[in-house]
Amino acid sequence: MTIDTLIGLIVLTALFALEGALPFYHNDGNRYRHALRNLVLAGAAGALGALMAPLLLFSIRFAAEHNIGLCHRIDSQPIFCAVLAFILFDLWMYAWHRANHEVGFLWRFHRVHHSDPAMDSTTALRFHPGEILFSTLLNCLILILLGMSLSMLIFYKSAMIAVILFHHSNLRVADGLDRRLRRIIVPPSLHRVHHSHLTDETNSNYGTLFSFWDRLFGTYRTRRRYDDIQFGIGAYQGPDSQGPMKLLTLPLRPL
Ligand SMILES: [Zn+2]
Ligand SMILES: [Zn+2]
Repeated sequence: MTIDTLIGLIVLTALFALEGALPFYHNDGNRYRHALRNLVLAGAAGALGALMAPLLLFSIRFAAEHNIGLCHRIDSQPIFCAVLAFILFDLWMYAWHRANHEVGFLWRFHRVHHSDPAMDSTTALRFHPGEILFSTLLNCLILILLGMSLSMLIFYKSAMIAVILFHHSNLRVADGLDRRLRRIIVPPSLHRVHHSHLTDETNSNYGTLFSFWDRLFGTYRTRRRYDDIQFGIGAYQGPDSQGPMKLLTLPLRPL
């Protein structure tokens, strides 16, 4: 088990326990059933991700052996390069997430994530394996372009999994703390807006780890109130659309 997976499991367990004690939304549904449904999909996506991991390792080795990619080409302190690669990889995540909303073919897969009618830490892991397939293939290219090392990638993925579990969580975070966090990272409030059933709100706040990309590219959106957001995408958020087979075949259904 890699360190980022271990961090993910620890943070998920802690958040799931805290969500029971300090929820932001009082969910009428069964949160264990909701979690199980999301974790079944996460298992399928995670298995595919594990099968494709050698491709990521190959890309990292390929860039190092051929001395290509930003970090292998610039003559600077390793720490400067690591920070730069970390920030640029997060910019790539912003661009990829935005493309998932703006390209119809990609949205067919990404809407599986958005069709969750409730939102908690397990929603962070609810992705269609097809989305994992496309993102992993493109990540290989980005790793080569950036010349990232394995330790840089694991460091980014460890930070990313902790932040995405946190910003999907149904945890009551003090308003002041949430506002302070918003200046740097994506806290729950911003990502709750992104999961709204209203299209204008869904197509905003694409940031994964840092919130400043949305400010920079004009997609940053806040709300006066966050406790009345309705999650989901309308047509495919009903209980009869939430079974594993329904979610796995959702990309085939009409937009
Ligand atoms: Zn999205
Ligand atoms: Zn999300």
